[in-house]
Order: sequence, then C-alpha cells, then structure tokens
Amino acid sequence: MVLKYELGEEYANKLDSLDPLKDTRNRFYLNKDEIYMDGNSLGLMSKDAEKTLLRVMDEWKNFGINGWSKAEIPWIYYPEELGKLQAALVGARQDEVIIHSSTTVNLHSLVSTFFQPSGKRNKILMDSLTFPSDRYAIESQLKLKGLDPNEYLVIVESKDEKTIDEDEIVNNMSEEIALIMLPSVLYRSGQLLDMEYLTKEAHKRGIIIGFDCCHSVGAIPHKLSEWGVDFAFWCNYKYVNNGPGGAASMYINSCHFDKEPGLAGWYGYFKEKQFDLSNNFESANNVGGWQIGTSHILSMAPLEGSLKMFNEIGIERIREKSLNLTGYLMYLIDNELYKYGFKIGTPRENNKRGGHVALEHEEAIRINEALKDLGIVPDFRYPNIIRLAPVALYVSYKEVWKVVSVIKEVMDKEIYKNYSNKRGVIA
Ligand SMILES: *Cc1c(COP(=O)(O)O)cnc(C)c1O
Repeated sequence: MVLKYELGEEYANKLDSLDPLKDTRNRFYLNKDEIYMDGNSLGLMSKDAEKTLLRVMDEWKNFGINGWSKAEIPWIYYPEELGKLQAALVGARQDEVIIHSSTTVNLHSLVSTFFQPSGKRNKILMDSLTFPSDRYAIESQLKLKGLDPNEYLVIVESKDEKTIDEDEIVNNMSEEIALIMLPSVLYRSGQLLDMEYLTKEAHKRGIIIGFDCCHSVGAIPHKLSEWGVDFAFWCNYKYVNNGPGGAASMYINSCHFDKEPGLAGWYGYFKEKQFDLSNNFESANNVGGWQIGTSHILSMAPLEGSLKMFNEIGIERIREKSLNLTGYLMYLIDNELYKYGFKIGTPRENNKRGGHVALEHEEAIRINEALKDLGIVPDFRYPNIIRLAPVALYVSYKEVWKVVSVIKEVMDKEIYKNYSNKRGVIA
C-alpha cells in the first residue's frame, strides 16, 4: 500500500482505523501518559514475553536443576529452539541461528573465527559511522593478532556524516581485504545498506562479509541465507523486545559449520556428548558450536513469547506498517517542522531506510529534554539528532501526529529554552 498523506488529526484517525495491525498494541504494556518512540533502543514488554518469562521462572521454582531437562522446552535446548523460532525472521536455515551471549561478545567470537589473515590478504574493512563498540572490538581483535589498526583497518568514510555510499564500500574491496563488517541499518541516520548487493560484491572478490543487524532485525525482513551472508549478529532488546540486556543472536551460514570457533567453550560442544566432559573439544557442527558458556535462560525467556508473536504476525506486514509510519512522520516533519530549522537525516527511499527517523536540529539536546517532560520518549544522539522510532507493533498513526504537534508547541512557545544543553550520562 502506497499512502498519499494528508495533514490534520482526522487523517491520523483514519489511518488508524484502516490499519490491519491496529490491535497488536494491546499485547504490550504501554504507559497511557506516554508516547514511546524509543523502541529502537529498548523495545517494550509484551504480555507474550512476560508470559514465557514467568513460565521459565516457575520452572526454576519447581524443577531446580532438573529444568535443564524437564522444562517445557528443556533449557539445554533453549538456545537452539529459540534460534529455530527466529530463523524465519532473518531468512536463515533453522540451524543457522543461535541465541547466546551479548552483541559485542558475539562480534568478538565471529571475528576471531572469520578473520584469518594470510599473505597479502590481511585487512578488515569497516565504515566510519558504525556503532563505536564494533570499532573498539575490531581494533582489539587486530591487536590480538599483532596487527596495528592504523595499518590493517580500512575505513570507508562518509561524505555527509549521515550515510555511507555503497559503491565507495565496493571500491575499497581490494585484494588486501580479508573481512568486511558493516551495519545493516546505521544507528544514527537509519540508512539501510543493501546487504544482498554488498555480499555479492564481496564474494566476487573472495572476501568474507558479516553484518551487525541490531537496527534491522524485527524491523525489516532479511534473507541472510539466500543472500549468502557469511555471518551476522544482533541484539534482541531493541525491535525484538526481549528486555533490557536480553541475550543476543548469532547467524552463521551453514557453509561455514566446519570452521573452528575462535572463542570455544563447553556449550559449543556437540550436545549428546557435552556432559562427557572430555578434554578434546568437538564442535556441535552448526551455529550452536559458537556458544561459549551456560545459556542465559532468564534473559532469553521473554524472547520465546516475542518471537512467537513475530511469527504469528509476519515481518512483511510489520515492515509495511513501519514504512507507512516513518513515511507519514517524514511527511509531517516536512510540512509542519521545516520552518523551525528541522531537517531529516534519514534517506527517503523505502529500500534505503530502517525503522527510525533521524530528526536534526542544532538545539536537539534541549528539544529532546523538553519532549521527555511532555510525555514523549525519543532519544538523542550526539551532536544534533533526535531519533524517533514509531515501532509498528505498538505505535499508532495518531501518536505520530501527536509527537509532531508537541514538537511544534515546544518550538512555538520556545519551551526548549528552559532546558540545559548538557547531555545526560545516557543519551
Ligand atoms: C545496540 C547496538 C549494539 C549493542 O551492543 P551490546 O553488546 O548489546 O551492548 C551493538 N551494535 C549496534 C549497531 C547497536 O545498535
């Protein structure tokens, strides 16, 4: 559905009444005095997620240690079973996704596996706008191999500090590059990179490629297996609503299952013999082989309910609504907020943007603070971006309309001038 947007509150109401996903928000805990536009940082709790978390707590209560074998989904298989539930969401084979550890640790584990410098092919390619944690991790991986990041890390620079030119990435795929790691959706501007195209170009040149999908999983459909992506990782606490610090995910293409995990541990052992406690490591021979230690059962239990909801609703429908919400938001910004000096930092094309809109203003810090006091939950990213994520599962068109009208009020009445332009610890 391509919508022709109109101004005014009545039109927002009309969009809501026509919305096929209008009822999904009833499955979430929403604060009635608040409009939540920050699901790209921490997704809200659904009743579905709460239910599976409470069930697993009961299993702990009732079974103790026996939960590992007696729970409804025995805990020993929980990471694999949840991986199967998530496979459809990312277009992977069921044995290519595992729930384990945290995003940054999974990145370390994958790079330590896939970065095998040899001869002239000994560098890593990244982009300048990637999430800093990824940069720190990659630099430390290079140092572990005795390689100076100044020499062995190739960075594709952004021309506008918002987006990365895909052809520029391809131009940098030289014979010296052993591994490429890129974000699927850039965390600030919301630009969506063409993973299929970049994977094809990398493989033509014999380069391994992986993606950080933190800002795309749960917001857009993926076809990781079909595209031939070598590896990917993502957190589940943003669009996937697994709760604060909830366990993360890892995808490895099945053609790499024979590789030796770079960071091995006993949970990666071939399951049937894990408890033989042999001194000789035998990998599970699927993505499960990359687990390290004991599974974070309570930090993955909400994911079970959440993934079942995603599978029931379907990511294609979620993406369709998300594009309409962000499209409508950008339309309102263009028409209502341009005169106050706001700009949109997110690419306009549907196939070039993820689930949030980057609203830029030189007073972004103060405007963001004012919005928080007026019942809107956005987030601020240094130096001038207010990120607004109208999450398809629980944000309505009316709320999008309301957010823009509150921003107008903040500007008309200069409410933002009552706030300091110092950023808080968490921003
Ligand atoms: C949120 C986010 C992370 C977070 O990493 P953690 O290890 O979960 O703290 C990493 N990369 C990107 C792109 C993110 O958006």
